[in-house]
Amino acid sequence: MFTIGCHLSIAKGFAAAARDAGSIGANTFQFFTRNPRGGKAKPLDDDDLRSFATVREQFGIHRILAHAPYTLNPSSAKPETREFALQTLADDLDRMERIMPGQLYNMHPGAHVGQGAQAAVEMIADALNAVLSPGQTTTLLLETMAGKGSEVGRTFEEVAAIIERVELSDHVGVCLDTCHVWDGGYDIVSDLDGVIDQFDSVIGLDRLRAVHLNDSKNPRAAHKDRHEKLGEGLIGFDALAAVVNHPALEALPFYLETPHDDLAGYAGEIERLKKARVEQRE
Ligand code: FE
Ligand code: FE
Ligand code: ZN
Repeated sequence: MFTIGCHLSIAKGFAAAARDAGSIGANTFQFFTRNPRGGKAKPLDDDDLRSFATVREQFGIHRILAHAPYTLNPSSAKPETREFALQTLADDLDRMERIMPGQLYNMHPGAHVGQGAQAAVEMIADALNAVLSPGQTTTLLLETMAGKGSEVGRTFEEVAAIIERVELSDHVGVCLDTCHVWDGGYDIVSDLDGVIDQFDSVIGLDRLRAVHLNDSKNPRAAHKDRHEKLGEGLIGFDALAAVVNHPALEALPFYLETPHDDLAGYAGEIERLKKARVEQRE
């Protein structure tokens, strides 16, 4: 089964977001748990969550991915920023258990802001050790980053170093962003097999739980992180079609985070990917 969707707004509630997903041919979606720049999350509405469950059944949505705010930085030099990260993570993970148990929650690992990657890796792992609990059903994903500024998680080694330090690491996985790994220097265009082998030997493919499917406005190793519409960037449509068809990745959920002003843009990309997925199969 092809699990494909995109980033959607939950401003009108979860049921409305699931309807939006269904209307564009998606069977999964990603959403921000709260304003991406931080702040308080809207209280959960039990009526909305009940109709969310109904709409999910209607459209065959069995997987959702939450995204933490960008401002979350558990490896900040400032104690108040680290405290905000801890509170937000704990609150979001609680909410996920109510929104839909057994799902995925993705975060950008952090930025070391001059303290060095090693110190940051330890601080991020400390934060995860503080917020993960054995009874939790949500899997927390660390996203692979482009390496913009002092971002941690550009290399598979950094991501692995965080996971190694997490006690309840059964609750931790990885979300691979195609734009980010490309901008980070991994050649998914000419050597997708090699990149996947590297991921497997450094992190382990069993950790990989989701893919962000984006083209990039920039050349490989640019360390920029500017997403582009599929086929309009320097990764190109064929390389992204190869990602959704790769035997090691095909069972994962794929999420578009491409720059579109309306749902029609996503609908077109989903349609095109579904065709690419079938054509390469036959
Ligand atoms: Fe992200
Ligand atoms: Fe992403
Ligand atoms: Zn990005």
